[in-house]
Order: sequence, then C-alpha cells, then structure tokens
Amino acid sequence: MIAERVKSLKPSPTLAVSARANELKAKGIDIVSFGAGEPDIDTPDFVKDACIKALKDGKTKYTPSSGIMPLREALCKKLEQENNIKYEPSEIVVSSGAKMILFLIFMAILNEGDEVIIPSPYWVTYPEQVLLFGGKPVFLEPSPHKNFELTPELLESAISPKTKAIIINSPSNPTGAVISPKNMEKISEICLKHNIFIISDECYEHFLYEDAIMLSPASIDKEVRNITFTVNAFSKTFSMTGWRVGYLACPKDYAKIISDLNSQSVSNVTSFAQWGALEALNNPKSKDFIKSMKTIFGKRRSYLMDILDEKGISYSKPKGAFYMFMDLTKYRDKFKDDISMSSYILEKGNVALVPGSAFGKEFWARLSYCVSEDVLQKGVSRLSEALMNL
Ligand code: PMP
Ligand code: GLU
Repeated sequence: MIAERVKSLKPSPTLAVSARANELKAKGIDIVSFGAGEPDIDTPDFVKDACIKALKDGKTKYTPSSGIMPLREALCKKLEQENNIKYEPSEIVVSSGAKMILFLIFMAILNEGDEVIIPSPYWVTYPEQVLLFGGKPVFLEPSPHKNFELTPELLESAISPKTKAIIINSPSNPTGAVISPKNMEKISEICLKHNIFIISDECYEHFLYEDAIMLSPASIDKEVRNITFTVNAFSKTFSMTGWRVGYLACPKDYAKIISDLNSQSVSNVTSFAQWGALEALNNPKSKDFIKSMKTIFGKRRSYLMDILDEKGISYSKPKGAFYMFMDLTKYRDKFKDDISMSSYILEKGNVALVPGSAFGKEFWARLSYCVSEDVLQKGVSRLSEALMNL
C-alpha cells in the first residue's frame, strides 16, 4: 500500500497543461499554448559554453552538497549587490531548482499541524508541499480589486498560535502582484512580532513593470534576515528552466540542516550545470540579457492588455512576472467547473490555459505570455471567439 502522506498528492497542473498542449501539437493540431511558465528565449550562449567547457575540463564529479564554492561566493555577491543582503557562503544552499529548495525548507521546519499562511491565488506547488510534510495551508484572500496585493491587515487576521511561516511570492505567479516596500516592511514587522518564518520566493524579481519595486524582506534589517528564507533560481532570470539550478540563502544553522537534507536526497546539482550558472552570474553580458528579456516581456504585457481590453476580457493588472490572470467568472454558469471551462477553450478554441482552480481561484485562468506578439494576437482572438460562442 502506498503511504498515507502521498494519497492525496496532486501532480503539478501547470506542467500537466503544457504536456497536454504538446501532445495535441504532436498530433498536428495547431494549439496556441499559454500554459508553460517558462521564458521562450534560449539560455545565453556564454552560459552554455561555460557548461560545455566544464564538461570538457572534467568537472564531472560530485560537488559539495550545498554547491561549488565559487558559485556560493558569486551568489553572496549577487545578493549583496542586487538585493542588499549580506550572506556568507555557509548560508547558501544550491539545489535542483527553487521547487526542490522549497521542498527542503518545508521538510526542515514543519511539524504535524503547523500552519503555513499562503496568499491566494498561489503558485500550485506551495500547498501540495506543505501538506506533504504534515503542515496545514491557511489561505489568505487579498482583494482582486486591489490586484491581489497582500496587505498587512489581512496577514494579521490569519495568525494563530500554530502559524509557523508565511510564503511571500512577489512578483507573484499567477497574478503578477507585487507587494509595495511599505507593505513588505509592515508584513515583516508582523512576522517578527509573532515569531513566524518568512519564505520569500523571489524567482520573478527581475520581471517588474511600470513603477513596481520589489523589496527582499531579508534586506529590511538583521532581525528580519534572521527569520527569512530567501529562495531564488536561475530558471526564469537566465532562461534556464531545464538546468534545475535554484538556491537558498538563510541563517547558518538552518542552511546547515537544509544542506544535510540535500546531501541525503539530491547529493548535489549536476556539476557542469553549476559551472554554467556561475558564468550566468559573472559574465558582464548577463545584465544586457536580463534587460532585453524584461523589455520583451514588458512590451508583450502592454500589447496583451490592449488586446484583452479590446475583446472585453477582464484581468488583474500585473506589475511583474509574465502571467496574466484573467477573470472569466461571468461564464461560470455555463460549466460545471473551471476545468471543464479550460477543456472547452482547448477543444473549441485550440488555446491552452491553466484553470484558475489550480491556483485557488475558480473560473479565473492563467495565461503565460511566453510567446510572440503574433501568437498572443492569434490566441486571444481564438479565446474571445470561443467565449462569444457560449
Ligand atoms: N516558484 C515559483 C513562483 C514558480 O513559478 C516556479 C516555477 N518555475 C518555481 C518556484 C520553481 O522554479 P524552478 O524551476 O527553479 O524549480
Ligand atoms: N513555474 C512554472 C509554472 O508555473 C513551471 C511549472 C511548474 O514548475 O509547475 O508554469
């Protein structure tokens, strides 16, 4: 018999939608896929070249469990320069993507029944991982009228003696909401007052639009730094989703435990992938690469908002990331649930979207704009037509 703890585990719905869209494409059907949350831009050549060189130079053996020292040193430099947080290499753990880092954090901190506050809509993986380690997700519902930005008041209302941690994901997947620096400071104060860990998932830190500013909570002061797990990855920033390199920065004692867990599970991230990641941090061309990605995504975002407005499709205005979270609640009485709605959109419109229920918000839908403007235009026209035919 399978273990109790995995009986109700759900597979990643975002990955499932991409897989389904690819299956249909392989059958020759012209699908517009807005499912995958991964940049459609290739990994920079200088990163690939560094990885190939590492392979040729024989960097093909086990590495220290928490990552090769030059990579951890470069991450300390990055965190100091870009996020204004000072960490030592002994406070860094490199593992297989931000997803595995989060998995290890929950494994390290959760006891049965501990509550973890998760602002909703949330990235699909958070509640599943919390449940896997005996934790209890407690969802907060920031207002869609304020573009889902988490407020300190809302957080305060959800705290109980069992609250262990809060997950902050700013900019957010799926809404693109960004917490203002003022609110981030107040949220951190509340966490300090109640002795709650902050798990800050900063994967989309570089994808910010208009006047949005992203503040890493650990940069606020030493006390907040001491309760914060800063989580990040190379996946989005350097378009390296398949490389599986993510990292954690946190106080030494926690980093030690998490590194030990990593050593008993992952061992280490693929050696040559780590050398590629190091080049991504060190090469001066990276700044231009990130800037050009941000410009591309910024243009797509504006274009997409224009065409959605034109077609009368509502959405929450994103300030970051590369997702558009669309409000399709006015069609709710046409379907038994929003999974049937997204199946209808896929079958009739040949457009793949991730249903809002995957993120805790039924009858909304996530569109990932990791496609060209032409494809955006084609997909939104098809979506609009499919909705009008209802
Ligand atoms: N956090 C968020 C908010 C994400 O959207 C994702 C998906 N890429 C991850 C973490 C996991 O990223 P990685 O590919 O580094 O595991
Ligand atoms: N984070 C991406 C997404 O939300 C990748 C899929 C996943 O890791 O679940 O689409």
